[in-house]
Amino acid sequence: MLELAPNRFAFCEITEKILRDLTDDSVAVLDDEPSIDSSDSGESSESNDSRTGESVLSRKEMHLAMLAAVALPPIGIAVAMVLLWGGWFGWSSLIAMVVMYILTGLGVTIGYHRLFAHKAFATPTPIGVFFMILGGMSAQGPLVWWVATHRRHHHFSDHEMDPHSPHAGFSNGIIMRTVGFLHAHIGWLFTSTADNNYEYVPDLLANPTVMRINRLFPLWVALGLAIPGIVCGIITMSWMGVVLGVLWGGLARMFLLHHATWSINSVCHVWGWRDYRSDDHSRNNPVMGVLSFGEGWHNNHHAFPTSARHGLKWWQLDISWIVIRSLQSIGLASKVRLPTQERMAARRRIAP
Ligand SMILES: [Zn+2]
Ligand SMILES: [Zn+2]
Repeated sequence: MLELAPNRFAFCEITEKILRDLTDDSVAVLDDEPSIDSSDSGESSESNDSRTGESVLSRKEMHLAMLAAVALPPIGIAVAMVLLWGGWFGWSSLIAMVVMYILTGLGVTIGYHRLFAHKAFATPTPIGVFFMILGGMSAQGPLVWWVATHRRHHHFSDHEMDPHSPHAGFSNGIIMRTVGFLHAHIGWLFTSTADNNYEYVPDLLANPTVMRINRLFPLWVALGLAIPGIVCGIITMSWMGVVLGVLWGGLARMFLLHHATWSINSVCHVWGWRDYRSDDHSRNNPVMGVLSFGEGWHNNHHAFPTSARHGLKWWQLDISWIVIRSLQSIGLASKVRLPTQERMAARRRIAP
């Protein structure tokens, strides 16, 4: 087992168990992933540095980044609207927005979530890095922070230490329910529980490739703005094309995907139905299932966190699963994890 600094990793013993439940320790999701077991004492010096959290953003930097991530996309949309009223609009920028939404969305759902947070499948390192960079372009935070926060969410789901529960700590009543919903959707980004969860990610902190890409997070965000700007500028051969590409394909797209992802934390713990028993309020929500590429089948996911497929019924559209299955069919995804029929039957709720 990795020896982790006690002040940062006070939950170490609990975490070992939860990591076993949320991921498969035996699965190395990337080709170059170091093995982590009780006899492993030969990590590189880079991993030792990484383990202290020094190579990821500080708390102050994280909060500033959160503020920028929350505030800048709406400002971009406002500017895009003003330009639209003035007749400045291009179909290329709208197409750029849709394409970038899909690509960066899949970076989050397939890369950040199913591959790195839950080890639901394994893939060659270049493919994993590709999805990690796409996820970075979504401007939802560096991978290591995102995964650490998410694993903590599963660990304490809808209980006191959950970083973004709409229920825990919020009593009944319309006002408190609304406050809880807003906390789960966006408020949690600015609370002290939103960081310092690195005891949940010893596997990522020990992986030099992951940490290298993680440190370059600001570059990926900048690329996510620059690429649609450059493409739209070339298509229209104009500087206004560049501006519209950045506004629509960059900032407006970030805004839409941010709220789709944050809705999994808020909407999908409030509205929808529960097919399986899970120790929380997670819900299956078909609207979010479509908008977030399968992540809206959230009760399924909480019941079977390591499953690469979240839409467990044939009609539960899960675009991320379709992509993973396609990658598997051409040999670019392996060790794809799915719940057995027996496990699903055992966890199925009798009453709706
Ligand atoms: Zn959840
Ligand atoms: Zn998850």
